[in-house]
Amino acid sequence: MKSKSPEKKTVRKVKKTGAKPARTGKPRAVRKTVVRSKLTKKQIEAMFCRFQQACPEPKGELNYVNPYTLVVAVALSAQATDTGVNKATKALFEKVTTPQQMVDLGEEKLIEYIRTIGLYRTKAKNVIALSKMILDDYGGEVPRTREELVKLPGVGRKTANVVLNIAFGQPTIAVDTHIFRVSNRTGLAPGKTPDAVEKILERVIPEAYLLHAHHWLILHGRYTCKARKPNCPECIIADLCKYKDKTTAG
Ligand code: SF4
Repeated sequence: MKSKSPEKKTVRKVKKTGAKPARTGKPRAVRKTVVRSKLTKKQIEAMFCRFQQACPEPKGELNYVNPYTLVVAVALSAQATDTGVNKATKALFEKVTTPQQMVDLGEEKLIEYIRTIGLYRTKAKNVIALSKMILDDYGGEVPRTREELVKLPGVGRKTANVVLNIAFGQPTIAVDTHIFRVSNRTGLAPGKTPDAVEKILERVIPEAYLLHAHHWLILHGRYTCKARKPNCPECIIADLCKYKDKTTAG
């Protein structure tokens, strides 16, 4: 009769007692927690289908006349309202629509146009610097990749995403305060930072809706799911939304 090997005996003993296997000394693989939407695929599809029916061709509210003026308008809009930026750029964009014209205008004259906007000195400096860079490094044309756009002074990931989406029709999402709030309240993309929310949104929004998702979510946040008092009784996605403190009529 064959004798059992000591190794086999050990394995059986572990199985029987449920004891943990001895550590091998190798570090354990760290599991990444993937934050998911609280909504099902069907609910997300229904949400965007309703946004689309309510507003098939959503538009941003910043005025611009070409990709370059859009870059300028978005750069000016940080911590300012679209209405405030539009007021300031109305006269500016009647005179200046190219980076060369902006450089010719110069920082001091630019300040005269934009002094009603917060942080106008820093913004003026950045607009002149980014105009020079577009002229020197990109032949006067606004670059079409996020990597290049974020190299422009005063242009961060959010600005780059807005420009890619609006000027070049790329399906990007720039998470601003409205999108951040709507994503968290509804449970569509719960995240602690704009970057985290952006990652979830890009993953869960059906491709067919990605191009306009940015505008739909902003408009929904600006006019219905407002920061202080969301208008839940008139919200077209109220039955899908997971927000616990929905407002009631009256
Ligand atoms: S139901 Fe209320 S909280 Fe939910 S998305 Fe609509 S307005 Fe916002």
